[in-house]
Formats: sequence, structure tokens, C-alpha cells
Amino acid sequence: MTQLPNCPKCNSEYTYEDGNLLICPECAHEWTLDAANEDHEDTKVVKDANGNILSDGDTVTVIKDLKVKGSSSVVKIGTKVKNIRLVDGDHDIDCKIDGFGAMKLKSEFVKKV
Ligand SMILES: [Zn+2]
Repeated sequence: MTQLPNCPKCNSEYTYEDGNLLICPECAHEWTLDAANEDHEDTKVVKDANGNILSDGDTVTVIKDLKVKGSSSVVKIGTKVKNIRLVDGDHDIDCKIDGFGAMKLKSEFVKKV
């Protein structure tokens, strides 16, 4: 059995191959394996406010007051955030801040120490 990827549209596992096309019988989506591979290899570069490239484990400081979602707390400008982890999404930094716990930040609002 060849391992075919799930449908990128509906995540169906019943995809099948037709030539170099992959076809999903559930939502009729067609795509090529090549394109899927390219997407996968597209490593995202996350940069801080100054354009420095960030990586897992970096220490950053917050460059503006950030409201914490769902609370009245604010992460103050200058707050040091250790051991960040880069993630996919709108908020691309996963981290823990003393006194706040686990939260997500946007890379554009931090700078590398
Ligand atoms: Zn599908």
C-alpha cells in the first residue's frame, strides 16, 4: 500500500491516485502530490520587529504593551520572554511568561535579546 496524504480540503483519508493527480472521492478535490510536497517543505521564517530571524529557544522582549486575551492583564513593554517556540498561525510565538503562564505572541511585537 502506498501512503497517500489525506485530502487537504476535507481531510478525508479515502484519497486515490490517478496518474500524478490525487483525487478525493468525498469532496471531489483534485491536487498533485508535487504541490503538496512543496507546501510541506516551505519552511516559514519568523522575524522579530527588527527583521532578525527568530528560532526556538530564543529570548525576546516585548516592544509594546500587549493585552492578554480574555483577561484585564497587560504584558508590559520590556517584558522578557525566555525560551520561545515558533508555531504556525497568526500568533507565531508560543511561550510562557512569568506571572501570566502559557500564551501566544505575534513576532512583530517582540525583539530578540
Ligand atoms: Zn476532500
